[in-house]
Amino acid sequence: MFHVKHRPKNLPIVYSPHYSISWNPKHRFPMAKYRLLYDRLIAQGIAQGENVFISSPATKSQMQLAHTSEYIDRFSSGRISEREMKKLGLIWSEQLVKRTFTAVGGTILTCKLAKEFDLACHLAGGTHHAFADQGMGFCVFNDIAIAAKYLIESGLSKQVLIIDCDVHQGDGTAKILEDEQQCFTCSIHARTNYPFEKMSSDLDVEVDKDAGDGQYLEVLESTLDKLDRAINPDFVIYDGGSDVHEDDRLGHLKLTDSGVQQRDKRVIEWARSKNLPVACVIGGGYDHDHQELARRHSLLPESAQQHYLKEQTLKIPS
Ligand SMILES: [Zn+2]
Repeated sequence: MFHVKHRPKNLPIVYSPHYSISWNPKHRFPMAKYRLLYDRLIAQGIAQGENVFISSPATKSQMQLAHTSEYIDRFSSGRISEREMKKLGLIWSEQLVKRTFTAVGGTILTCKLAKEFDLACHLAGGTHHAFADQGMGFCVFNDIAIAAKYLIESGLSKQVLIIDCDVHQGDGTAKILEDEQQCFTCSIHARTNYPFEKMSSDLDVEVDKDAGDGQYLEVLESTLDKLDRAINPDFVIYDGGSDVHEDDRLGHLKLTDSGVQQRDKRVIEWARSKNLPVACVIGGGYDHDHQELARRHSLLPESAQQHYLKEQTLKIPS
């Protein structure tokens, strides 16, 4: 089990300088956003040293909780075909391998911190299109499925609930965890968007194209009601993808900043009102303007920080 002596004053944040590797800035995948997000949170006083936890690479045995060892080895050693890399939409390098393992380690660390301190946020993660034996859509390994299985295997949870609010369906997570009774997958996504062949989550909720704040938040509320009736979890992994935003390059929805903030606050409050630990991952977000993209991703840690501080205040005896 993982122990830090003191409860951080600010929201526990997980990051690694390996997340943003050297990369063509014009490439479709916005690699710089992780560093820019971290810098932004430092400037905002949300990442302050005492609450920043640096992730280390996941081990192969952790990876094997959700992936075939053949696929892990093939990707790690660069024996991955051009066709597979094309499906991934990424360019293979040693640096990419390290980054990918470290991002998975980061989501596991975020879960451990959430278990200890109730709420934590990873400044990466949410690679939910990765399947057991192949990667898809910028997702090499499925950090959410690995972390969920890790929580069960290590006895930190008996029933994990994954609330995936990235605009794209968490197809890889649904498939990997389809027979795992102790992991419940819920995906709220745009009906018309990638992946075009959807998998079956335990609960799939499709949102109409161009839905705005009001419609989205109504759907979220009725989904939380359904979850209340369907499951009694003891842990929540929350993918707060910023690609639901109206300005996202690949999203099909029209949420404003305020809509994204209300979504994140509602999910966190819903889970925390049941005293469930919540591990947040930032999920997808796409824009040629990487600074603006980092700003949109910062809405999640900002909302989580506000909630964390509110609970801290309530915990201090008067
Ligand atoms: Zn997405």
